[in-house]
Amino acid sequence: MLPDNLFVRLVDTHLAPKFQHLANQDRLFCDALAAIHHNGPPPIRSALTDWQEKDGLIFYRDRCYVPADESLRRDLIQQHHDSPAAGHPGKFKTLELLRRSYWWPGMYTMVSRYVEGCATCQQHKPNTHPTTPPPQPIPADNVTRPFQNVTMDLITDLPELHGYDSVLVVVDHGLTKGVIFAPCKKTIDAIGTAALYHRHVYRRFGLPSKIISDRGPQLSAVPDRECGLSGCGAYNAHSMDFPTYLLRTAQSTYCS
Ligand SMILES: [Zn+2]
Repeated sequence: MLPDNLFVRLVDTHLAPKFQHLANQDRLFCDALAAIHHNGPPPIRSALTDWQEKDGLIFYRDRCYVPADESLRRDLIQQHHDSPAAGHPGKFKTLELLRRSYWWPGMYTMVSRYVEGCATCQQHKPNTHPTTPPPQPIPADNVTRPFQNVTMDLITDLPELHGYDSVLVVVDHGLTKGVIFAPCKKTIDAIGTAALYHRHVYRRFGLPSKIISDRGPQLSAVPDRECGLSGCGAYNAHSMDFPTYLLRTAQSTYCS
């Protein structure tokens, strides 16, 4: 290991003019400079000996003070996080690398936010739940008409308008990718959903062959006795029974 006196602490030379230019607009910088020159009260609860001036730059505890400029501070974090030499380290390592040469108030918060928002780090985030199965793509069927394969979902807790606070969203998963929105209430049940589907989708496109959903209670809670088939999951994506049930309940509700 080389002796300490062979190491020098450097500020990037191309950044120095930028530091000097921005420093005049920075109140903390000016306070620190005034304190050094006039031996007045030290800024932000630190001892005067913590601050030094060298070639127009302020050093706080031997680390260069970075003036309050968002883009300059962001550039520095980027250099210490995104560069190939840094290799996208975590927030503590990034902070440690940065603290070797630079300092500014609120450095930890800014570095944390930057690293948490780094797209590259997000993409390479390790899977901490390796037992969770990956999402399975839904296979495409041979469909011959619109809304033959549909996905259904409810958007709830919207601001109330005309007595409605939710929307039933039916998407054609097969041919057209078309979407039908039907206003409803959050308290809608299976029969209400079936009636809504009948009114907004069935009358125009007929019975679906397949319905895909997250098995929400608005349909999965259909009692077996109403379904007429024991154990028939109303939201079973692979079941042909639900569309039949849906048609039957919709007709009885709508025509009564
Ligand atoms: Zn990153």
